[in-house]
Amino acid sequence: MIIPKGSKLSPEQLFEVEKIAQDFDCSILEIQGHNRCVYAILGDEGREVMFKRIAGLSFIHKVDMIESPYKLMDRRSGLSDHAVKVGEDEVGRTAPFIIGGPCTIDPDNPSLYLETAHALKEAGVNALRGGVWKPRTNPYSYQGDIKALEIILQARDETKLPIDIEVMDVEQLKIASDAKVDVLQIGTRNALNYSLLKEVGSITAGSQVSVLLKRGRHMAPPNEFIAAAEYLIAAGNPNILLCPRGTTPVLDGYRNHPDESITPLLKNRTWAPVIVDPSHSVGHADFVKACSLASIAYGADGLCIESHIEPSKGIGDDPKQAITPQAMKELIDACRVVWPNRYQANF
Ligand code: PEP
Ligand code: MN
Repeated sequence: MIIPKGSKLSPEQLFEVEKIAQDFDCSILEIQGHNRCVYAILGDEGREVMFKRIAGLSFIHKVDMIESPYKLMDRRSGLSDHAVKVGEDEVGRTAPFIIGGPCTIDPDNPSLYLETAHALKEAGVNALRGGVWKPRTNPYSYQGDIKALEIILQARDETKLPIDIEVMDVEQLKIASDAKVDVLQIGTRNALNYSLLKEVGSITAGSQVSVLLKRGRHMAPPNEFIAAAEYLIAAGNPNILLCPRGTTPVLDGYRNHPDESITPLLKNRTWAPVIVDPSHSVGHADFVKACSLASIAYGADGLCIESHIEPSKGIGDDPKQAITPQAMKELIDACRVVWPNRYQANF
């Protein structure tokens, strides 16, 4: 990774670096961080002479050769001070960053979503979630409806909160990008869909859009999760939120095997914020608060929680696992108490 002396290379400086890279059949990708740009070398970068020539340029601060399968996500990388901003908030800076909202937006009942959104704003959430298109295990279950996008956009207008929706393919990605959705969610089923990850990374490169990458339900080693995030950043978008959400095989009694405990491992290996999803992890509204508190204690920067003003009227996962806005408020207050004593990586 190339780190310039200034906050960004000028077009002439970039051209000079690119010329050297081309001599070694490599190319350069600009990655726009919050505070400065860094430059990844794409191709067989283990060429010492190339490194030396680039490092010798007067406007280059250093060229890092990080021995890591995820060199941009690595906490030793030039992006280690990259802050991920959602709306006006720097995720995890002063308090847990909370995303809340129903699993699925009911397209025929906009007022349920809008009332939920306002109640969640009152409860103190930082961003709204809501499924527009849904990845359903059963092909005959409700699959989503574009009308739901209008509803969540209206909620953003009314509450001024940023919004998070899941995209599952390139067409949905383009629609969501055109609508300037703030957080694009990649669900557990697509966490290993590398071609989609590359598309998401390149379409959102250089923008403030962030990507909430759920941990694949079959992913075991944390490094596999981090490497999936590396695809996004290597395609140009460093605004990544890592989201453990439970894995399989399930722990009998929970929906999945709760995995908030990998948070400290992610925090030690990467610089990226961790937002745990307790709702899909435990799968029951009753256990969501305990899982949330555990997540914060383990060092999570925030939570993504399913919440509905009247869970029994919800569709998708809501009747089972959504908490009410009142419960959300109590949960946020309790998490803020744990926050000062959370695990913090020491580097
Ligand atoms: C969701 O957030 O509603 C969802 C389907 O998430 P996951 O991909 O974690 O199952
Ligand atoms: Mn859900």
